Amino acid sequence: MSFTKKNLPVDVDAIKGFLADDEGEALFEAALNTAGLGPCLEVGSYCGKSTVYLGAACQQKNSIVYAIDHHRGSEEHQLGEEYHDSDLFDEQAQLMDTFKEFRRIMRKANLEDTVIPIVAASKLASTHWSTPLGMVFIDGGHSLDAAMADYRAWAGHVSIGGILAIHDIFPDPTKGGQAPYTIWRLARASGLFEELPTVNTLGLFKRI
Ligand code: MG
Repeated sequence: MSFTKKNLPVDVDAIKGFLADDEGEALFEAALNTAGLGPCLEVGSYCGKSTVYLGAACQQKNSIVYAIDHHRGSEEHQLGEEYHDSDLFDEQAQLMDTFKEFRRIMRKANLEDTVIPIVAASKLASTHWSTPLGMVFIDGGHSLDAAMADYRAWAGHVSIGGILAIHDIFPDPTKGGQAPYTIWRLARASGLFEELPTVNTLGLFKRI
């Protein structure tokens, strides 16, 4: 694998977010390899760290990324919670707002011609969706309800040969929350996907 984060148009280490280098590089490779099958879609963009990896790959292939996020933060980002970042809190609205930072990063990374932000809840965005997707990356809310809703909304839209990626897979419950792992197991048991090797905590499947 010749691609590294150094090939990206921005310094990803300076972008707020929760994605390891090897996971980002695996997202880039998956997006590059599936761009010919249809657009890429991610659920849970936050400040755009993963979007930069996906976007850079899709830009190379003249494809696009739909980046879905309500930009109000997940459960763990809310005021008083473990991963709250006060820089991303809108004092006037008294709500999280990661969209401003997301837009700044997309502009800085020259990805405004490739990334289509959808500022809405994932389930709402999926209501009338019918476009087959080359790749789906699920990294939204980590409650069981949120993860299940994302899986049900999007897994069925992956084209044959396309990739389903799910972030934060922790088979050991002492290492992390179990909701992403629950939908990972659903995907594995569905008969729709071939399991690919997991990269760090990034679960990967190919649609068969
Ligand atoms: Mg994540």
